[in-house]
Amino acid sequence: APLPPEVQAKIANHPCYSEEAHHHFARMHVAVAPACNIQCHYCNRRYDCASESRPGVVSERLTPEQALRKVLAVAAEVPQLSVVGIAGPGDPLANPGPTFETLELVRRAAPDLRLCLSTNGLALPEHVERLAALGVDHVTVTVNMIDAEVGARIHPWVLWRGRKVRGEDGARLLSERQLEGLAALAGRGILCKVNSVLVPGVNGEHLVEVGRTVRRLGAFLHNVMPLLSAPEHGTHYGLTGQRGPTAAELEAVQRACEGGARVMKHCRQCRADAVGLLGQDRHAEFALAALP
Ligand code: SF4
Ligand code: SF4
Repeated sequence: APLPPEVQAKIANHPCYSEEAHHHFARMHVAVAPACNIQCHYCNRRYDCASESRPGVVSERLTPEQALRKVLAVAAEVPQLSVVGIAGPGDPLANPGPTFETLELVRRAAPDLRLCLSTNGLALPEHVERLAALGVDHVTVTVNMIDAEVGARIHPWVLWRGRKVRGEDGARLLSERQLEGLAALAGRGILCKVNSVLVPGVNGEHLVEVGRTVRRLGAFLHNVMPLLSAPEHGTHYGLTGQRGPTAAELEAVQRACEGGARVMKHCRQCRADAVGLLGQDRHAEFALAALP
């Protein structure tokens, strides 16, 4: 079924959400958010967040002022620029200071650019109002499970009010906050995409239920991404020996999920400092040292 017209209108010039738009509109990520508030077994903290963007790359970290300079330099050079996102290298909402400062600076200096953000969702509920007030219109939440037993095999702990909550208790807390955050986003009319990392043998079959649940809560897209487990992706920590899915396994899960939520097949798992049209990577051209 086609997307509802109000959703179509919102994604018309968004390269990530429309197969059509991704040839004509560009996006960029600014890497202003180094810290994270959970642990994923597949994450190696030296690299970009592996559930929101491309693992195994080290993005150039910027202060909010540097991020603004970079956005303005890219906007001057890349007329198709339509979206500025914050996707790491850690969790944007675990770094609310720099994240919101950046969003505010960009919003003020370049009001036509659309703002987006990705998050693991742990800190989402308390930030939805502020995201709405800033006019952030797209949020991606990574949801790998809705069952704490599955969750504990993916997320060994979460950081909650200054202490580590481990195992199923931590996973349950994460799941509750993710789902509460999703519902709150939908309630504020913020478009919401869900990413799931397919970990074969852990959450493969479970993702159908995840898709059904997040769609019921208002997510308009469910993007099933493969666990990238090769050593060069730096994601082998904690799940030693855990392989990524084969192409056939990934396809099968994506197909199974399609009944419950729209699946986005052209997402490229971009770096936290990606610049340009999708499939084009101009991050080096706009490195801090190269800016005017
Ligand atoms: Fe790593 Fe991202 Fe998971 Fe945080 S949310 S532990 S940065 S993969
Ligand atoms: Fe778009 Fe996916 Fe790249 Fe994010 S990671 S900018 S959603 S294509």
